[in-house]
Amino acid sequence: MENMLMDYLRPDKVGDIARLADGRGVYYLAGGTDIMVLKKENLLEDKPLIDISSLQELKGIEERDASIYIGALETMTSIAKNPILQEKATALVDAASIMGSPIIRNLATIGGNLANSSPAADLIPPLIALSGQVIVQKADRTREIPAESFCTSAGSNLLDNGEIVRGVRIPVQENSFSGFMKLGPRAALAISKVSVAVWWFLNGEEIYDIKIAMGAVGPICFRAKFTEKILKGRVLSPDILEEAAEMIETEARPIDDFRSTADYRRKMTGVLLKRILNKNEIISE
Ligand SMILES: Cc1cc2nc3c(=O)[nH]c(=O)nc-3n(C[C@H](O)[C@H](O)[C@H](O)COP(=O)(O)OP(=O)(O)OC[C@H]3O[C@@H](n4cnc5c(N)ncnc54)[C@H](O)[C@@H]3O)c2cc1C
Repeated sequence: MENMLMDYLRPDKVGDIARLADGRGVYYLAGGTDIMVLKKENLLEDKPLIDISSLQELKGIEERDASIYIGALETMTSIAKNPILQEKATALVDAASIMGSPIIRNLATIGGNLANSSPAADLIPPLIALSGQVIVQKADRTREIPAESFCTSAGSNLLDNGEIVRGVRIPVQENSFSGFMKLGPRAALAISKVSVAVWWFLNGEEIYDIKIAMGAVGPICFRAKFTEKILKGRVLSPDILEEAAEMIETEARPIDDFRSTADYRRKMTGVLLKRILNKNEIISE
C-alpha cells in the first residue's frame, strides 16, 4: 500500500507483544531485510509494525544443558563468527556465512529467516538437520516447535497471532558432524536454487545416525527420509554414496521457475549431498 502510515509500536519486553498485537496479524521489525523489500514493492499490508530490533532478551548465543541457544535477533554475521557454532553446528555456520551479501548478513536475523518461512530460506535446512527446536513466546507462555514442522506452506508457519520466535535450541551431540551447501546463480546475493544440509554421527566408520534436509525443492524445506535410511548403519563407499544420491533426487519435489528447471534442481540435490559427505572425507574405498 503506497505511502501508508503504519501503526508503529515498540515494546519494552517480549512479554508485552501479545497485548500490543491485540489478536491482530502484525509485522515484526527485526533486521528489516524482508520488510524493506515488501515496503519498496508496495506489498506491505495494513498491519501494525512492532519493532523488536532492540529487545536484548532476544539476543545471545550460549551453550547450556547439552543444547545451544540462539536468540532470534542474532544475525547471519554473528552466527557465522560464533566459535561454539563453528565447532558444534557447522551446517548453520556454513549457511549463515554465504547467505546474501555482507550488508544483508549484518542485518538479517535467524528469527526473521524462520518467520519468513521461504522454501529457499538458507537457515531452515541446517536447523532441520541439526534437530533444532524453534522457541516461540506469546505473553508469558513459551513452547518449542521442531524446526522440521515449523513451516506449513511457502510463507506460512505455526506462529499464532501475537506469538513471536524467541530463539532456537539445538541439541548438542558430541562428536557429530554437519555441513550445508547451496546452489545459486552466484555465490552470494542469490536466493538458493537448491540447498542441502546434512548432520551425521559416526560409530567407528559406520554412520550410526544421519539427518538430511533440503531447501528450494518443494513448497517447504523438508527431510530426505528415504535417503537417510539408505545411509544409516552403513560405512560410506562410493557405491553407497551413489545409491543415496539417486534416492535424494527422487525425494526432491522441485518446480520449474525463473531461477531454474525442476530437472536441474533434482539432479543437484544428489551432487550437493555427495559434495558435503566427500568434503568431510568419510568415504572408504
Ligand atoms: C538482497 C537480499 C538477499 C537475500 N539473500 C538471501 C539468501 O541468500 N538466503 C536467504 O535465506 N535469505 C535471503 N534473503 C532474505 C532475508 O535476508 C532473510 O529472510 C532474513 O533472514 C530475514 O530476517 P530479518 O531480520 O531481516 O527479518 P525482517 O525483514 O525484519 O522480518 C521478516 C519477516 O519475519 C517476521 N519476523 C522477524 N523476526 C521475527 C520474530 N522474531 N518472530 C516472528 N516473526 C518475525 C516479520 O514479521 C516479517 O514478516 C535476502 C534478502 C535480500 C534483501
